Formats: sequence, C-alpha cells, structure tokens
Amino acid sequence: MATVRFLGLAETLNRKPVEFKAPFKKSSEYYGSNVFNDKAMREFLTKEAYVAVRGAMEHGSKIDRSMADQIASAMKAWAMSKDAMHYTHWFQPLTGATAEKHDAFFEPTEDGRAIEKFNGAMLVQQEPDASSFPNGGIRNTFEARGYTAWDPSSPAFIMNDTLCIPTVFVSYTGEALDYKTPLLRALQVVDQAATQVCQYFDRNVTKVHATLGWEQEYFLVDSAYFVARPDLVMTGRTLVGHSPAKGQQLEDHYFGSIPERVMQFMREVEYESHLLGIPVKTRHNEVAPAQFEFAPIFEEANVAVDHNSLFMDLLEKVARRHNFRVLMHEKPFAGINGSGKHNNWSLATNTGTNLLSPGKTPKRNLQFLTFFVNAIVAVDRHADLLRASIASASNDHRLGANEAPPAIISVFLGQQLSAVLDELEKVESGKLSPEQKTELKLNVVGKIPEILLDNTDRNRTSPFAFTGNKFEFRAVGSSANCAQSMTVLNTIVANQLFEFKKSVDSLIEQGLKKDDALFNVLRDLISTSHKVRFEGDGYSEDWKNEAAKRGLSNLPDTPRALKAYVSESSKALFEKLNILNHIELEARYDILLEDYFKKIQIESRTLGDLVTNHILPTVMAFQAQVADGALKLKSLYDEKTFAKLAKPQLDLVTELGNRINILSSEVNAMTEARKVANKIHDTEARAIAYCDTVKPHFETIRYHVDKLELSVDNALWPLPKYREMLYAR
Ligand code: ADP
Ligand code: MG
Repeated sequence: MATVRFLGLAETLNRKPVEFKAPFKKSSEYYGSNVFNDKAMREFLTKEAYVAVRGAMEHGSKIDRSMADQIASAMKAWAMSKDAMHYTHWFQPLTGATAEKHDAFFEPTEDGRAIEKFNGAMLVQQEPDASSFPNGGIRNTFEARGYTAWDPSSPAFIMNDTLCIPTVFVSYTGEALDYKTPLLRALQVVDQAATQVCQYFDRNVTKVHATLGWEQEYFLVDSAYFVARPDLVMTGRTLVGHSPAKGQQLEDHYFGSIPERVMQFMREVEYESHLLGIPVKTRHNEVAPAQFEFAPIFEEANVAVDHNSLFMDLLEKVARRHNFRVLMHEKPFAGINGSGKHNNWSLATNTGTNLLSPGKTPKRNLQFLTFFVNAIVAVDRHADLLRASIASASNDHRLGANEAPPAIISVFLGQQLSAVLDELEKVESGKLSPEQKTELKLNVVGKIPEILLDNTDRNRTSPFAFTGNKFEFRAVGSSANCAQSMTVLNTIVANQLFEFKKSVDSLIEQGLKKDDALFNVLRDLISTSHKVRFEGDGYSEDWKNEAAKRGLSNLPDTPRALKAYVSESSKALFEKLNILNHIELEARYDILLEDYFKKIQIESRTLGDLVTNHILPTVMAFQAQVADGALKLKSLYDEKTFAKLAKPQLDLVTELGNRINILSSEVNAMTEARKVANKIHDTEARAIAYCDTVKPHFETIRYHVDKLELSVDNALWPLPKYREMLYAR
C-alpha cells in the first residue's frame, strides 16, 4: 500500500531543522585551519624545507629525498597536532569520484612498542592497490600497476581525521590515469605561452596562471524520499515522474528566502569548506524548486579543481547529517531546470594583472584585446574539443534542453566588445600610419571602459560568455570534474598563443613595428573567427539552423561528441604540447565511452525494474480493483443504465490495460536492445548502440508511466511524487 512513500512523507513532515552552530563567530578565526598552508608550513618546517616546498609550488622545482623526509615529518607533526593519525594519497581517478586509501602513521617496532611514522618516501610516492580503477587498457598494456605521486602545488589538508595529500595517479610508464596529470601539464603550457606573449606588453611578467571560479548547482531532497526512489539511489536522477502542477513557472524560488533546514545545512557546508580553505562565498536558491548554488572566490585553477572535488564530497557528507541527499546530477527532474557548474576562467600574471580585464591605458587594453581575441580564436578552432570536454551521459540531458546552453559551442562577447573587434577588423594591412595608430589607440582600444562588468549584457543562453573580466564556460555539467574542461581550455588557448607569437614575430622580422604587427595579426584573427561569435538566443531553433549554415557542429550525444578527442588534429595538438600522448587520449576516449554505456545500462536496468516491480503490479492491482467495482455495479443495474454509469470505470480499465501492454512490450524491447548491444565488442560501437537503440525506449516508457501516475489512485502510487520531493520538506 505504497507504504514506503507515505512513511517518507510522514518522516519528512516531522523533520526539525538540524541546528548547526560554528564553534567560532568569524570565519577569519578558523579559515584554512585544516590546511597545511603557508602559516602551518612556516610554523612546522625548517627554513630550508620551507624554501624547497615554495620552490616546488611556484616553479615546479624538484625536492630531494632528504628534504622530502623533513617535510614529511613536519606534516606528520602538524597533522598529529590536529589529532589526525592517518594519512592518504588523495587523487582523482577517471571514475569521476575522488579516491583515497587510508594508512595509519602507526608502525610497530621490533621490541613490541609502536611509533608514528611518516617519511619522505611515503609522502612522495605510493602504490595504491588500484587495479580496479579505469585505465582504458593502459596498465594492461604497459605495467601492472599505477602509482600516486605528491602534487606539492596543491596543499595537503585534514579531512575525517586523516592527512590528505593531493597526488597525481600515473602508470609506471608515466601515462596519466587521472584528471590532474593532464591538467597540470596544460597549466604549465599555458603559463609558458601566455608569459611569452606578455613580453610584448610587460617585461616584468615571469609567470601566468590560469584562474578558475566554479559555481556549483545542486538539488536537495529529503533522504526519506531519496531512499524510496530506486532510480535516485541507482542513477542519481528520476527516470519517471510527472511534473507537478506547479513547476518553476512562477519563478518564485530563485533568490527567494532559503528554507530553514537548508540554511542550517548551508551554514555547516560553509564552515567545513572554510576549515579546508575552500573560499566559498556565495549561497543562494536556484531557479528550480529545491535547487541551490554555492560559489567560491576564484583561485589558481589546479587548486580550484581540487577544491571543487573536495567540495562535492563535503556537500554529500554534510547533506546526510541534515537528512538531505544532494543530487549533483545534471538533470535529476524532467520538466524543470537542470544543474550546471559554470567555470569562470581567466589568466593572471605574477604582477597582479588579470589578462582578461581591460585596464586604464591603451597599452593595457591592447594586451587585454590580445588575450581576449586569442581565447575566442582558440574556441573557434577547437570548439569540438571543448564540446568533448563536457560530454557525459548525464550532461546530455541538460545541453540544449532550453534551459541550459545548447550543445553548439559559440562565444558571446557583448555589444561593446563586438563593436571594438569590428573596428579593429577595419585596420589596413601592413604598416600603419602614425595617425592611424593614434586613432586606433585613442579611439578604439583606448575607449574600452576599464570596468565592463556592469555594462556587459548578460546572455544566459551562451555556452561560453565573456562576463566583463573573465570567460564563463557555462556548458560544464554539475557532476563533472572541472579538470576536463580546464585541461582542454588551457591547452587550446596555449596553442593559440604560441601561434599568435609566431605570427607576430614573423611580421616583426619582416620589418613591421611591434604594434603594427600586433594589430595586423589581431585583425586577421578577428576576421577568420566570425563563425563562433553569437550574440543571440542560444535556445532558439533559429540558432540551430544558423549554426548549421555557419558550419558549427551540434553534437547532442556523448559518444559522438567524444570522438573529437581522438581526431588526428587533436592527437597532434595534445601530443605537440605534451599534454596527453595518443595512447593516453585513446585510453581516455575508451574510458569515457565505457562510462557512458555503463550509465545508460544501469539506467535501463533500473527503469526496467521500476516498471516491472513497482509500476505494473500497482497498476494491475488498481485495474483489478476498478474492474471489480464495475462488476458489482453490473449486478445492480440493467444493461443500459450500467453501460452509462460504469463508463468511466470501463474506460479507465481499458486505458490501464493499454498502457500495461505498451509498457511490458517496451520493457521487453529495451531488454532485447540491451542484449544486442552487450554482444558488441568494440567500445565505440557499443556506446553508440546504447545511445541509439537502448536510450530511445526511456522516453516512451516514461511517457506512459507518467500518464499512469495521473490515473492511478494516489494512495496506491509507490514512488514519492515530484510535488512531494520538490515542495514537501
Ligand atoms: P555571476 O557570474 O553569478 O554574476 P560573479 O561574476 O561575481 O558572479 O562571479 C562568478 C564567479 O566568477 C565567482 O566564482 C568568481 O570568483 C569568479 N571570478 C571572478 N573573477 C574571476 C577571474 N578573474 N578568474 C576566474 N574566475 C573569476
Ligand atoms: Mg554565473
């Protein structure tokens, strides 16, 4: 009798907010106290060791063994001063989750005592028994095992009484088995390329780092509902469920007041984040009911990526304490907005300049335009790679769903900057006259207002939008590891900056002045990258047609989008810049395809079970009940009266019967399609089979289940309904 659902409802109605009060008044009193940050390092490290770690953090310099021993023992002392007795190498395997394997500092001695031990070797390298992480065949082909290695550029931290050391995860032959390794390589290359280009403008620049500010959207549902929905438990999204009478059409949730239970949860998330030095600053409701967002202040990209992974773990953990479950899936509920993770990206110099922020002088603005235009060109030339970087089974539901950026990659600049680029495009070829140059510098470049932020029109429908002092990559999915998009973005920008430098230098060699050369190359780049620029409504049908005319690709599904990773040009690009070699790329492609079809497979099985074990028995029981009623009526009336009176019952019995039929044959057909797909050996072909022959059944099945939800007695319906999960809390 739908007990689980009603127990869930009763439990939720009785919930009281779980009070959370931070033991400190101000964040400044505890911010970063669980991080082996600069303050902790100064306190626990010898001067020598401190210099070594700083050198590794800032310039990637090597740390020798004896120094590593010193650092390890200082880390241990610090960790133990905070009651941590375990340590772990913390890494991000290609499963998408974070991984850790805890070891105790404890070590028995020969005389039967025990000591706490943690040395340089344990800090620097570990061999997790990681044979079951996805590796795309790399470890089978090369070496049996992979190892984790310390990444000193991301600070160690304490979580759950354990010292966590951020690490990369690579095979013995050096192939990357994780997200961090290629990211670090890409960040290094973009540093190199951008620093070189900065020399045209400012010789004091010796280092450029990419910055990332992520905005994490998520849903909260009560844990009692969550456990009563096998689809949420197994797949993270609802596979069936009729939209409630009230969705988000009233737009009353966005920036509305935060419910008390959620508020307590958010407080604790903030507290825990701040202990870990995650600079979370913004919290608010999102557009959909039960949807929320957290955003930190931006940081250096590698640290920001680690912080996002950590933050996702934290959200889950804290949510449970408040009897919530957090849904990080891109589309947990049909018919209302999904969740994204905007990646705000820019480049910053060691001299404190944001390269994507216009400045006070024409020179600064020319530098800004240089980076701005090159970023646009990079996106234009490698749109397919960017699309691949955000592809996943779950993000497929969101991209192009008329509430999220389309799967077509384009760039939004805003009116003002579009106008500036149009002016620059008019620059004549070759040497510029002094008048022209003055005109350009004063009236075009010089006119870019220092602060664009307030003036830029916001285009919420663009997948890649300039927002005044950074680009916002909006198509990234809420459950994604940002390392994927950041690796690709920084790689393609680095490549473009190298090319740019080559072109400018060659014009200078041919006798042009530096500024003339810069203007000439920028003009050419602007005129060859028009097709990626789009200021209109990205959700519209018109845009799809227009984009097709422009030759932009629109790849709505993951298997086809991923293909860009293994094109000849991508392999050449990644290999040239030493980000990923072709073996690593092919392995990644394989892993991502496998992840894709496994997710669809799990969804398909779960949906089959739901229909067979939950929906159909309920509908059949209800049908029998209605039919019984009709039979009883029949004994009371003559034929004619009965036919009239029992029409609703009879129609309903028929409707239920029809849908029962359709559903059971659809579920069978889906199972058959799965069987066929499972026999396909080739990963790519299997992923495509899942996409084209298994997944289409989901829609049909859902349609009929959702119709049934409207016809079957509310008291019998076995699954918590949308209105309950989204509103009753
Ligand atoms: P919104 O986009 O919602 O209007 P903001 O523009 O204030 O909000 O910032 C959104 C995110 O962009 C924040 O995480 C912020 O830290 C980040 N951000 C701001 N400047 C930069 C930058 N130079 N590089 C990367 N991220 C940035
Ligand atoms: Mg934003």
